[in-house]
Amino acid sequence: MAIAENLNNIKSSLPDSVTLVAVSKTKPNSDIMEAYDAGQRIFGENKVQDLTKKYEELPKDIQWHFIGHLQSNKVKYIAPFVSLLHGVDSLKLLSTINKEAQKNNRIIKCLLQFHIAEEDSKFGFSINEVDALIEDNTIEKFEHIEICGVMGMATNTDNNEQVAREFSMLTNIFDQLQKKYFNCHPNFKEISMGMSGDYKIAIQQGSTMVRIGSSIFGQRNYH
Ligand SMILES: *Cc1c(COP(=O)(O)O)cnc(C)c1O
Repeated sequence: MAIAENLNNIKSSLPDSVTLVAVSKTKPNSDIMEAYDAGQRIFGENKVQDLTKKYEELPKDIQWHFIGHLQSNKVKYIAPFVSLLHGVDSLKLLSTINKEAQKNNRIIKCLLQFHIAEEDSKFGFSINEVDALIEDNTIEKFEHIEICGVMGMATNTDNNEQVAREFSMLTNIFDQLQKKYFNCHPNFKEISMGMSGDYKIAIQQGSTMVRIGSSIFGQRNYH
């Protein structure tokens, strides 16, 4: 009951324009089904092995998002079914995703991850790297990838101004890319930012997609 209630509370607090990804990592199928029965269809996982297992065991109308750091050698396991990859952060990964998507006769939707946190432990591109990959047509050549927007994580801190500043940086990056390169791509529309602790700030700063785990499913025992 708690899960459905948490989910409904969060959903009712989100603007219609914001998509909720329910982050079910480390949680059992029974918890996911509680959210599913309350109407949730988009779930996020950050481990390839867990995601594959849950995909096999749970209803097929779930849209599975991969939200973590993806290793190139594991793309093949999720390429047949994943509906959005949030953390795409290197050319090598893009190239592997393209290859695996082609093998599966699919176009895989991806979000480019940007490094916005002052902490240096987080993965991600810089704007200059992405500019270069677009301007030399590298990204355009990946015909089995559709770039649908950007993703980022703010520093884990109580300093709300800093978090807001970092999120606004990502919105800025999105706006720049959209104006320069993705004007004619209506599906380039997502800014994936905001987790349980900071999603309200993220929405104020322009988030279109929040990734919320513990506020729906409760604390995790491990990450
Ligand atoms: C775990 C995780 C989340 C959700 O975190 P909560 O604080 O539990 O809401 C969001 N995004 C990513 C990339 C994560 O790994």
